[in-house]
Amino acid sequence: MGIRYDVLVRSSEISEKVRELGKELTEVYSGKEVVVIPLLRGAFMFAADLIRSMDVPVRVEFLGAASYGEETKSSGEVRLTLDTSFPLHDKHVLIVEDIVDTGLTLAYIQKLLLSRNPESIRTVVLLDKPSRRIVEADLYRTLFTIPDKFVVGYGLDGPGGFWRNLPDIVALREETENTQSG
Ligand code: IMP
Repeated sequence: MGIRYDVLVRSSEISEKVRELGKELTEVYSGKEVVVIPLLRGAFMFAADLIRSMDVPVRVEFLGAASYGEETKSSGEVRLTLDTSFPLHDKHVLIVEDIVDTGLTLAYIQKLLLSRNPESIRTVVLLDKPSRRIVEADLYRTLFTIPDKFVVGYGLDGPGGFWRNLPDIVALREETENTQSG
């Protein structure tokens, strides 16, 4: 049984945008050290490419975030599955997120990290699904705006936790067929 999908963003477009963002951040953080915080797990690939385009001293800390079940989702309550290993006080913090949908996860994480008094805090996001937004999160840059479709690839997972290794970002189709195709 295969799953059919439509390519929304090709890997070549992703690479170009990520490189541009890396250059911009190199200027923004010129002369400074940055603590880059990818939100696990979906942002790992985006962050890995982004930091290689940033020519400033970078440290990487991971935050693991998961929402509670559907029933508490509207409260925006998020469970931390992994926290940073050193204080963020006086640090320049760059949050890296894969996709903003309702905005609840990011709003929660931003509030949490702000409470640790960093010197500065910015958030860069690979994909933005603005049509489902419930709370506004503070986004420094979003690379691609996409329609309200479930997407996988380039780090984002789908059914069963698969599809993260697909180089393109694709929208899964509802129906399943006997062959997998692009
Ligand atoms: P939000 O709290 O509704 O903004 O959801 C953000 C999180 O939901 C992201 O970090 C993803 O883990 C997940 N998510 C939302 N939409 C998608 C999607 O289309 N594909 C894969 N994961 C998604």
